Amino acid sequence: MCGIVAVSGVGGSTGACVEGLRRLQYRGYDSYGFAWARQGCIDRLRSLEALDDLVEILPEAPAALGHTRWATHGGVTLANCHPHLAEGDRFALAHNGIVENYQALQHEAEGVPADESDTRVIVRLLAAELSRGTDRGTAVRAVCGRLRGRNTVVVLFDDGELFGYRHGSPLVLGDGGEMVFLASDALSFAPRTRRCFLVPDKALVRIRGTGIAVSGEGNNAIALRWEDAGFEDDDFGKDGHPHFMIKEVMEQWRTIPQQATLTRDALDGLCS
Ligand code: GLU
Repeated sequence: MCGIVAVSGVGGSTGACVEGLRRLQYRGYDSYGFAWARQGCIDRLRSLEALDDLVEILPEAPAALGHTRWATHGGVTLANCHPHLAEGDRFALAHNGIVENYQALQHEAEGVPADESDTRVIVRLLAAELSRGTDRGTAVRAVCGRLRGRNTVVVLFDDGELFGYRHGSPLVLGDGGEMVFLASDALSFAPRTRRCFLVPDKALVRIRGTGIAVSGEGNNAIALRWEDAGFEDDDFGKDGHPHFMIKEVMEQWRTIPQQATLTRDALDGLCS
């Protein structure tokens, strides 16, 4: 279960993005990466190490995108780490999911490396669509519409504009006043805001500065209804347990509703 965190605002986005991704480590990952846009250029840092070992302080930027990867296609290599950059570094892209028809889509291009991940196919398709002059939002929607399976995609453009398309795995918007978040889980931005909006399935999000627009499948505008995230900020930690998995097991007494718990009596009843 990968993690995505995108941040946009007046400044400090890279720091908030690193902090946000650290809070998504409970989802597990084999590698991670960040991309940030400032002064019309995208830079990035990717790593196969643990995120906790990151000591480098990323430069200030008004918009940033982070991703923790669980490899499904293509080896755990730096080349396959997200965010991926398009040729010419016009945009960086992070993806959560599996492109079930990626091989068919790969055949549309020549000279594709053997170990290419399914995500790189999305990057190539989007670059091709944009080079035909299609506007960004239409291009993201058109490309995502060609992917089979459940695929959530976030794209950061070199001028700091962000687009997110949700299909399957969640995307949550967070309103932090001077900073806006688009992430896999509201816990990632919990210390900064509890005001969140769960992006509906197959909706497209566009973020420019702190301005947000969400549109549905038919390009209809979707009104933002901010809600309280309804969690405690310390929900994200290991709560004294050595691993997140053990924490999850120990929390089952309150996360599984009582009537859904399988008791010995119920089991005997089922077996008799
Ligand atoms: N299928 C993509 C990959 O292997 C995304 C994996 C993920 O969701 O982390 O890179």
